[in-house]
Amino acid sequence: METVRTVCTICPSACGVLVRRQKADIVGIEGDPESPMSKGFLFPKGLSAIEYMRHKDRILYPMKRKGERGKGGWERISWEEALETVTERMGKAKALCGPQSVIMLRGAAKGLPDILLSRLGNAFGSPNITSMGFLCFVPRVYAYNATFGCFLYPDYDYPPATLVLWGVNPSETFPPLFRRILKAKEKGTKLIVVDPRRTESAQIADLWIRPRPSSDILLCLSVIHEVIRRGLYDASFVERWTLGFDRLERHVEGFQPQVTEPYTGVSPEEITAFLGFYTQGPSAIQEGNGIEQSLYTFQMQRALYVLEAITGNIGRPGGKTRWGNPKLVERYGPLFTLQDLIPREVRERRIGAERLAPFAHYALPQAIVQAILDGSGPKVAFIMGGNLLLSWPDSKRTLEALGRLEFICVSDLFLTPTVMMADIVLPAATFLEFDSIHMPPDFTYFAHVQQKVCQVGEARSDVWIVNELAKKLGLKEYFFKDEYELYDEVLKEEGITFEEFRRIGFLLGRKEYRFYEREGFRTKSGKVELWSPDLESYGLDPLPKADPSSLQSDPSYPLLLTSYKPYPFRHSNFRQLDSTRMLHPYPLVLIDGKTAASLGVKDGEWILVETRKGAARAKAKVDDVKERVVVMEHGWWLPEDGTFLDHNINVLTSADPPFARETGTPLLRGVPCRIRRL
Ligand code: SF4
Repeated sequence: METVRTVCTICPSACGVLVRRQKADIVGIEGDPESPMSKGFLFPKGLSAIEYMRHKDRILYPMKRKGERGKGGWERISWEEALETVTERMGKAKALCGPQSVIMLRGAAKGLPDILLSRLGNAFGSPNITSMGFLCFVPRVYAYNATFGCFLYPDYDYPPATLVLWGVNPSETFPPLFRRILKAKEKGTKLIVVDPRRTESAQIADLWIRPRPSSDILLCLSVIHEVIRRGLYDASFVERWTLGFDRLERHVEGFQPQVTEPYTGVSPEEITAFLGFYTQGPSAIQEGNGIEQSLYTFQMQRALYVLEAITGNIGRPGGKTRWGNPKLVERYGPLFTLQDLIPREVRERRIGAERLAPFAHYALPQAIVQAILDGSGPKVAFIMGGNLLLSWPDSKRTLEALGRLEFICVSDLFLTPTVMMADIVLPAATFLEFDSIHMPPDFTYFAHVQQKVCQVGEARSDVWIVNELAKKLGLKEYFFKDEYELYDEVLKEEGITFEEFRRIGFLLGRKEYRFYEREGFRTKSGKVELWSPDLESYGLDPLPKADPSSLQSDPSYPLLLTSYKPYPFRHSNFRQLDSTRMLHPYPLVLIDGKTAASLGVKDGEWILVETRKGAARAKAKVDDVKERVVVMEHGWWLPEDGTFLDHNINVLTSADPPFARETGTPLLRGVPCRIRRL
């Protein structure tokens, strides 16, 4: 029996995997004890990787549409014909309407393939490239950069005296992280969870704070107000390493806890309790997607980082610090993305750019949808593993837009609702089916070898697909002979080849405490920019700001809708598997007992959730959530019959303004809603 070391790439946790193989047969899969990320554990989604890979509904061959779009008629074709067809349609659109009429879209971040897709867009000449970044993670990256000039990570393993999980539930979405948190708790770490839902993380917390959805920034500004008013800040760090403390002090004057309480639902006493733990440092805050889908997504992240900075928790053991990266290619740098191939004035005209800060480099998804409907641009879409009909706001409008495109090519694993709209479908591979360098987007200090253990049908990796398509498009000079030439290029600075990396297994950067004492912060001032002159120069709020009156309320829709991503799925994936559906067969919507009783809703019955945008059904779960908050599961469709509008939360959300000023993020949390029995 042979053992192959690889890595699970289903979610960003990057758990190490050992695959046991007998000749060509995989006979077992288990966690890799040598993995620094997962230390021998493998979690349910990773453990179901073989079931996922061998599922009867996998797309195994390239296919072209037969009959009307969206009706499910397909004909098997060769890779050659598929890539030729895509090349011809992209080339035709470019010749007739310009390269920007071809849009490059993708779903959840994967690492290397994402950057290669951007490289394809740039080499092709289209700046209309986008991802889920407007809703997830990318606002965080921008806020870190604006504040510190670099990304920082909580120092879980030191561990912190107090750890705050703000809008994140690692017990469901980052299981290896949750194990580290449990270990930290064993060593005495106090845990604060800020979440309207009593998650598994909240159940083990020393303090659970429940703000209303989208009001987090007001809560955070009140915490900052109290830190300053009570003199709980680190005066020497503030003096030496921050810019704009005086302005911050004046700015938060109006955010007394009693002023924000009517909006947040968090009392001054709870803020005092928060400070009681948080100021017993070292403290670290792990932020999550729960605070990323509001109009204040960027400003909220800035507020958190300001709090962490003024309390002296930056670069401190047990606080939040920087990690040095392995010497891999600078993945987001212009030399690798080739972004400079597109002239600045063309890039500035990408779709939705006028709604984005200068540092946001993507095209804005809801603006793309509108441009398609207006007939003002996109003709052809290349979609790399993205289920836009579940993940973009206003699914019905997105559906209408996809229907108007002249040509759509999608690479994916299953016939998702979005794939059903394609003209050409390319079979993508699961992580067990190809060699690669896994560079998890959330942990840039880590890279793991990914090794092919089997071949299923004619499935290929996204890297292979993009590279081959680029060559067919005549962009050979910007791409690679094959994937291995690319991998060697990525590893060149480390002085190793991919074949050597197979034996090495992984590369891990180093934690860098007090990094700023050597070189300052990588901001223009060299300090933590509490007040950001750059943001001010862009006409954006230079201090974290929120207007309470902008929090939405609607007498006809008196409840507030938010969402969560249920274990054991990954976004809209894994609904096909018997094992996951046995654990979680139906879409759920969580409501508090008092609201349920007042509306006569019983636990387990199907109910209708309505907003001004639409209605969707889910099974009621009477649960411990913030009063008058409705928490619906994200990503639900039913592969067994293709249903995707009935239970889909994005039928309830709007793609209309207002959007976050910096990142174009629409309001997906705190949407006024109502519920009724069916
Ligand atoms: S947490 Fe689960 S899905 Fe994520 S990498 Fe680990 S095993 Fe894979």
